[in-house]
Amino acid sequence: MPDSANTARNEKLKQRLRFYEDLGLAPFYRDRVLASPGPVRPELLPSAPVPASPHTIEESTLRKPALMPSTVPPAASSGKPVQPISSGPSLFDAASASAAETLTQIRDDLGECTRCKLHSTRHKIVFGDGSQKARLVFVGEGPGADEDAQGLPFVGRAGKLLTQMIEAMGLKRGDVYICNVVKCRPPGNRQPEPDEVAACSPFLFRQLDSIKPKVIVCLGATAFQTLLGTSRSISHYRGQWLDYRGYRMLPTYHPAYLLRNPAAKADVWKDLQKVMAELGLEVKKKAK
Ligand code: SF4
Repeated sequence: MPDSANTARNEKLKQRLRFYEDLGLAPFYRDRVLASPGPVRPELLPSAPVPASPHTIEESTLRKPALMPSTVPPAASSGKPVQPISSGPSLFDAASASAAETLTQIRDDLGECTRCKLHSTRHKIVFGDGSQKARLVFVGEGPGADEDAQGLPFVGRAGKLLTQMIEAMGLKRGDVYICNVVKCRPPGNRQPEPDEVAACSPFLFRQLDSIKPKVIVCLGATAFQTLLGTSRSISHYRGQWLDYRGYRMLPTYHPAYLLRNPAAKADVWKDLQKVMAELGLEVKKKAK
């Protein structure tokens, strides 16, 4: 492989590792937990600031990720070779496995999850539905009563509206992938709480990395805020193209909001037309 390709691949892996480490996810495979910390990899430590994306949200609005080490420990900076203290797989191996894992593998890893308190009131886990090869992923907030009963996302009234929106784009539900930030229904359809989002959102990140969609549409504030780590209102960014770790991402209103505020459908249709243009889809009919 040419040097430039190796360099680009290594840089991509470094960015992915930093992201997972910022989330506190490493190691995140149940069968890959190390008995002790792995060797220090100086080449993985941040060396230069990452250039800001044109779509990047102001830093002051972002939740602060966990800090990376700012200095290399003495053993690594003394010039002496650092000996591995664990025979476990390297973080590079973990990142490669993450990039290659399928939705089925992620679902298997989720299992009959009890990682947060939402497990105690759910009937069915709502993992996601659609194509592993989808170019378009819709991300909502969490399951409602109908979804909790059926184990499928967006099957209630809001789901029927989402299906109409997808079909108005000239697609079928099976062409896209639909999932939520949390996979279990919050009681009374309340917003998921921060600890619940923190426990469940790593599975969303892995779903997105497994599918590698061309476009992610965030339905409502929770999805948008979770992916971008911001607390700002969706109204600041609705309809704007943003960058989520290299993916094109566009926030718009949740279909449940449209059921309460039908006048906002026109805004959402404008947003979906942007998505259609990005995907090279022809506008066939207007949303009702
Ligand atoms: S919401 Fe997510 S983390 Fe919480 S129990 Fe359900 S699947 Fe597990």
